[in-house]
Amino acid sequence: MKITYLDNNATTAVAPEVLEAMLPYLSDYYGNPSSMYRFAGRAEAGLSLAREQVAELLGATPEEIIFTACGTESDNAAIHSALSSQPDKRHIITTKVEHPAVLATAQQLENSGYSVTWLGVDEKGRLDLEEARASFRPDTALIAVMYANNETGNVYPIAEIAAMAAERGVQMLTDAVQAVGKIPFKLSELPVNFLALSGHKLHAPKGVGALYVRRGTPFRPFITGGHQEHGRRAGTENVASIVALGAACELAGKHIDDENTRVRALRDKLEKGLLERVSLAMVNGDEKSRLPNTLNIAFKNIEGESILLLLDRLGICASSGSACTSGSLEPSHVLRAMGVPFTHVHGSLRLSLSRYNTESDVDLVLKELPLIVEHLRSISPYREDQEPRVCAGQF
Ligand code: PLP
Repeated sequence: MKITYLDNNATTAVAPEVLEAMLPYLSDYYGNPSSMYRFAGRAEAGLSLAREQVAELLGATPEEIIFTACGTESDNAAIHSALSSQPDKRHIITTKVEHPAVLATAQQLENSGYSVTWLGVDEKGRLDLEEARASFRPDTALIAVMYANNETGNVYPIAEIAAMAAERGVQMLTDAVQAVGKIPFKLSELPVNFLALSGHKLHAPKGVGALYVRRGTPFRPFITGGHQEHGRRAGTENVASIVALGAACELAGKHIDDENTRVRALRDKLEKGLLERVSLAMVNGDEKSRLPNTLNIAFKNIEGESILLLLDRLGICASSGSACTSGSLEPSHVLRAMGVPFTHVHGSLRLSLSRYNTESDVDLVLKELPLIVEHLRSISPYREDQEPRVCAGQF
């Protein structure tokens, strides 16, 4: 069966160019990059090139890039470093809509005695800059705000928040796992201290990431051991995957215009077409400040999981707004923080595109999804006149 892949915020296909770049490091250049002989120098050269490629995409310098095993590790490493380099500061600011890589880490810190301010969002998932401004304290060690949300695609005002943090001498982390390669920005113009990214969201393999640490930011390693990554992240580097991440970043730079024109147009066609064809549907998120590839849409009175199962029969891959991994079908913490009505939150569907999607993928969804929604509504136990209950805006 042909797969129509519309779940690119979950993971992406490895680009053929990326695969080609990494394969020699699995077959021929298998030396340990820390070894002294020339043969290992090939692996070391692969790491250096990748560091330059990642830095180039971000507008950073190669020395500011540390390779990690994933976006989650990058987030954890930044949080750990900010707290251990400023032991007298015990306050963290973050948002209610972070990915669990930050959210669960902050919750754990809160349970162990740190003070955490959780910034809320409005019904479109937008932060209130005044609330952010008022949340800084003399003992604030770190503010962590994601660049773009993985569920809604919302893009946050990172430049404004970074300026507030810099003014107050507070370190800032932005989790840019969903933003890198999708929207253009330059760290030379963005005064964050840390930025996390992940290979598998931009057509590199899973299990590789990077952490940007601004020059001059004190850094305490999260993983200790050998001297790899200039003593900032111990453990023999995953050379082939790092080479792949570098190649993926170079490729992302070349495709970023396409992402913001052709991919955006496909997403907009999908959104418009679904809103025209399906009644009682609404977009979750901020249409004015959103990733070009993401559509989160809620269909009233049905279950997102049922939609996913029926889409799956047609080979269409998407995500729902529930954390079904827990087996509980709990609505996502992001949609709950936005106060999405109960009648809509369960019927939320995330469709996320990439440069490999085509017009025919969109046409297929526009043909099939309205029929699926109609069918599910015809057998739904919910009544049309049911009062919308708002989900508790907490997590
Ligand atoms: N942060 C965001 C915003 C994400 O979307 C993800 C993955 O979904 C992560 C962090 C975690 O990245 P990784 O899967 O590389 O650990």
